[in-house]
Amino acid sequence: MLMCLSSTYEVWQQNVAVCRFLILLVLCQVACCAKIPGLYDEPRLPATITPFHYDIRMITHLENPANHKYNGFVNISLHAQKTTNQVVLHVAGVSIETKKIRLYGETSDFKLTTVKFNKKRDYMVVTFDQPLWLGKSYVLSIEFGRSMTKKLEDGYFLRHYVNAKTSEKIWYSISHFNRNLIRNTLPSFDEPGLRATFNVTMGHHKRFQSYSNMNVRAVLPNYDIQDYVWSVHEVTPSMSTHLLAFSVNNFTCRFTQAASANPVRFRTCSQSSNVRETGFVAEKAPQLLEFLDNLLKVSLPLEKIDQLVVDDFPTEDHSTKDLGLVVYHSKQILQREDGPMTRSKSLALQRIAHGMAHMWFGNLLGIDWWSDLWLTEGLTGYFETLAMDHLEPGMARRLQLRNRETSFMYESEVGGVSLVSFWPLASPEVEKHLYQKATALIGMVNGFLGNATFYDGLQRHLWQNSFASSTPDLFWRSLQLASERESVLSKNWDVRSVMDTWTRKSGYPLVTVIRNGNNVVLMQGHALNRSRTDLWWIPLTYTIDGEAFPGDLKPRAWLTPHQNRQQLDEIVPLNQWILLNLRAVGYYRVNYDEHTWQLLAATLIEDFRSIHVLNRAQIVSDIIFLWKQELVSWSTAFNVLRYIIDEDEYEPLMALVVGVTNGLWGISPDSALSIAKWLGVAGRWYAEFISYTFDKFVVKSPNLNSLDYPD
Ligand SMILES: [Zn+2]
Repeated sequence: MLMCLSSTYEVWQQNVAVCRFLILLVLCQVACCAKIPGLYDEPRLPATITPFHYDIRMITHLENPANHKYNGFVNISLHAQKTTNQVVLHVAGVSIETKKIRLYGETSDFKLTTVKFNKKRDYMVVTFDQPLWLGKSYVLSIEFGRSMTKKLEDGYFLRHYVNAKTSEKIWYSISHFNRNLIRNTLPSFDEPGLRATFNVTMGHHKRFQSYSNMNVRAVLPNYDIQDYVWSVHEVTPSMSTHLLAFSVNNFTCRFTQAASANPVRFRTCSQSSNVRETGFVAEKAPQLLEFLDNLLKVSLPLEKIDQLVVDDFPTEDHSTKDLGLVVYHSKQILQREDGPMTRSKSLALQRIAHGMAHMWFGNLLGIDWWSDLWLTEGLTGYFETLAMDHLEPGMARRLQLRNRETSFMYESEVGGVSLVSFWPLASPEVEKHLYQKATALIGMVNGFLGNATFYDGLQRHLWQNSFASSTPDLFWRSLQLASERESVLSKNWDVRSVMDTWTRKSGYPLVTVIRNGNNVVLMQGHALNRSRTDLWWIPLTYTIDGEAFPGDLKPRAWLTPHQNRQQLDEIVPLNQWILLNLRAVGYYRVNYDEHTWQLLAATLIEDFRSIHVLNRAQIVSDIIFLWKQELVSWSTAFNVLRYIIDEDEYEPLMALVVGVTNGLWGISPDSALSIAKWLGVAGRWYAEFISYTFDKFVVKSPNLNSLDYPD
């Protein structure tokens, strides 16, 4: 290894080497443009060779603004799953010293035959003169490098800040490998299911520090380049390539700690002028991690988490949440520690909670392929909400409702989305809505299984699949086993069949309540398209006028895909209402017969607080939707919504704003006038209704009452 290292520097310290890279890159690209017959061209890497360890050693040169670059080599330990003389891996953008590619085996002395590129798929296909034998391990060694720019697409890129005293530009490097970008930085098997351990050694000028997923184990002198050192990081746990992260910078840090079962030390670092305002994230992140650690009861294999706060971070959501290294955009995260909780603080807290939840979901528990990303994002969204609620009580129900309303709104717009067929994605915006739906569905599963079963299944799933890939099927299986232990679901029902109807179908159901004397008949159909015949497994929670509001969300009945109509095993006198979908946890809408709507409207006017705030929000949301769909008359909708003038909680008001603004073009002038009149009466809300989007209502306001409902 040392020999390789020293020869690497001899070459790269000469400008000639840079030219060679450029020439090679041009030659590669010329070669890539021509389609080569027989060249490996499948959409996924072949299953013949799998990596299990990466030894990465690279030097980042940040001192000369005219020549920012990095170079290094990677030794990838491979296992042959089939006998083959070809290795296919991902390479794009980065320059490769093709002639120096080496393969080492226990006894064999391999000779390189060809190196070809499939540019369309970002593949480098390396062929050797003899086979890699099934069951044997090998080490593939590749030298790489490139000049550095500020482009995010490079995977490993530059940022800078300006020193206020000297006006000098201070450059630093940062990585963002999320989905298909690490191949632009270094050769790799860039698929999420191909997990490996990583040994990262970063070379840099001694005035900088190196950050990566793991702690720096040692800083060693570099004898080849003056004033340079090697930061040797500890080996990572087994993880996907896109979770690898590193940065070379000269930031100033704060230190905090989470008192979880495995204490995790936090280092929060930024350019020195921002340090004063990093206190908020430095304090809140450990508290959120600690809460999640207690809730999930699965310790992270981490001694530390570094949080870098940088200006101008151009990723889709302006952050990265890799195992042990989180990067935030300063505009979204810098906050004063003291003072009241503002909207901006609340959003910052949500981002931090999201980052901390990702340590378990997405990092510890990975996925096999991108099409399953909704599972880890859905779990992250769900636990982000709970963690937020821990520090800001009341936030869980607001975020839950926001997810549900936003997702319903988006599905209405596009005619419904299915979670399982969303890769490749059209845009980050679309992705955001899919994750909101996934989060809402995870909440529904938690609801119908109950906390004890849900957490039993989830914890076992985490224990069994940590450092490995999960799939929705495996996850449902873990919940299924937990439900069998507790006999939660009826025999012959299984969680997977139930959830497949929600994740595979686009859109969501509408449950219609029909009163037949004292009997209640329920029907299901597609909420967005009445001509469709889709049927779901629908957990039915309900309460009847006069009953105490149930403390849990255990379904009292189910609608199944075997029938679209079912009579409830319940007698409900005609002068009493029945209210479905308690706390709006089920991802469906409910329509009642005219008589029940009038009973509900009368209760809302008399004593709206007797109905749970989330159900009031659901009623508001559903009635506006149903009116727009011409399933209820305007006078029915008006009657139900009349109580809103007295409403003093955010959730129902949020639902009203979403309903009204989303349906703006569908509102007739007369109806719009009526709505405006209500809003005018509710004068204190009027300006906010018009100018704010609903998510601003997520902010806690001291002017609003908060009702305590048992959870
Ligand atoms: Zn996420």
